[in-house]
Amino acid sequence: MKKKFQLAINSGPPVINYKFKKYNPIGSREKRAAIKVIESGVLSDFLGSNGNKFYGGKYVKKFEDKIKEFFQVKHAITVNSWTSGLVTAVGALDIEPGDEIIVTPWTMAATATAILHWNAIPVFADIKIDTFNLDPNSIKKNISKYTKAIIVADIFGQSADMTEIMKIARQHNLKVISDTAQSPGAKYKGRFAGTIADIGGFSLNYHKHIHTGEGGILVTNNDKLAEKMRLIRNHAEVAIQSVEKNKLINMIGHNFRLGEIECAIGIQQLKKLNHVINIKKNQAEYLSNGLKNLKGLITPVVKKDRDHVFYFYGMQIDNKIIKKTRHFICRALNAEGLDIYQKYQNIHLLPMYQNKIAYGSKGFPWTSSYCKREINYSKGICPNAEFLQDKSFFGFGICQYNLNKKDLDLIIKTFEKVWSSLHKLN
Ligand SMILES: *Cc1c(COP(=O)(O)O)cnc(C)c1O
Repeated sequence: MKKKFQLAINSGPPVINYKFKKYNPIGSREKRAAIKVIESGVLSDFLGSNGNKFYGGKYVKKFEDKIKEFFQVKHAITVNSWTSGLVTAVGALDIEPGDEIIVTPWTMAATATAILHWNAIPVFADIKIDTFNLDPNSIKKNISKYTKAIIVADIFGQSADMTEIMKIARQHNLKVISDTAQSPGAKYKGRFAGTIADIGGFSLNYHKHIHTGEGGILVTNNDKLAEKMRLIRNHAEVAIQSVEKNKLINMIGHNFRLGEIECAIGIQQLKKLNHVINIKKNQAEYLSNGLKNLKGLITPVVKKDRDHVFYFYGMQIDNKIIKKTRHFICRALNAEGLDIYQKYQNIHLLPMYQNKIAYGSKGFPWTSSYCKREINYSKGICPNAEFLQDKSFFGFGICQYNLNKKDLDLIIKTFEKVWSSLHKLN
C-alpha cells in the first residue's frame, strides 16, 4: 500500500500537519471600547445601596439595553459569569430547601450545582439521542410532588423542545430556566432560544461565540423575577429596607456584578453575534455535507423548527454499522492531526452525586430532613446520555477555531481516510 494512504496511527503521514487558526472575536473595536472605559477611570459604577447606581454604571445599563433590543426581551441583567447567572436564576424562583428541580445530565456541572447552591435537589432526566437535549417524556416521568422547576440546557447550539417542555411546566405549575450558554442567537420557532423559558441566559466566557473574558447575561419577561435577580446580583441589602418581608425568600445577596470594561466590550461583541453565528452555521453545513456519505457516521441533527449555531459539532458512531470502537476511531482521527473529543458529560455520575456529599461531610442536603425522598443517581437512570457517553458520542470543538475552506476540506479528508481504512483498525 502507498504510504500516503496509510493511517497516521500506523506510521503513515497525517492529513493535517499544521494547527488551525484560533477563533478570536476580539478586535480593534473592543480595544477602543475598553480603553475608553480605562481612560474614564470608572471601571465599575455599582453601589449596593438604594438608588440609580444599584443597577450599575453607564456601560452596564447600555449593554443591558442592547441585549433587550437584540433578544427582544423585557429585562436583561448582566452578571460576572453564567455560573453566577444560574445561581441567581434559581434563587429568584422562591425555591425551598429540599424542593426538586429536574435537570439534564448532558451539560456542564454548573447547570446542576446552581440547584444545590440553594439546598434544592437536582433530579436528572434523560436526553434525546438525536439532539442531546432534554427529553420531554423523561421530564414527565421524573416529576414528583416535590418538583418545583426544570432547568433545560440548549446544548451545543440548538434549542431544546421548548413547546413541549413549557406545556409540561404549565400543567404541573413548574418554573423553567434555560441554560442557553452555548446557543446565543439560536432560534426556536422564530423566537430566540433562552427567551421562551421563565428565565434564560447566556455565557460570555472566553470559549463562547461572543465573550467579555468572563461574564453572563440573564433574560426574562417577568418583572418580579427580574427584580429578585437584580437584588441577588448586588448584595440584596436593599431588599431588607424596601421589600416586604414575605418577598424576602432567598435574598441572600452576592456580588455577581459585571464591570464597565466587560460591558463596553460586550456592546461591541453583541454587534458581531449574527455574523459569527452565520460563519459557524456555514462551516457546519459544509462539514455535514462533506461527511454525509460516510457509512455509520451520524452528523449533527438540526430540527426543522429551529436552527443550530454550532458551539460544538457533536457526532455519533452508529454501532450497528461500525464494529470498531469509538476509542480507536478517535485515536485514528487524532493521529491525523484533528482534535476530537471522545466524550461529553454525564453530570449525574460525578463523584458528588455518586457519594451524595455536597455541603460538609454528612451528606447534606440529601441526608437532611428537607430531602423528602431517596433520590436515585445510579448508572442506568439516563440511558441515552450514558450510551452516548460510553459508546457512541464524539465531537469537534468548532467554536475554538477560525476555520477556512482549506481547513474544512482537510477535516473532511481526514474522516474519509479513516473511514476508508476502518477495517484495518483494531
Ligand atoms: C459555559 C457554560 C456554562 C457556564 O458559563 P460560565 O460563564 O463559564 O460560568 C454553563 N452551562 C453551559 C452549558 C456552558 O456551556
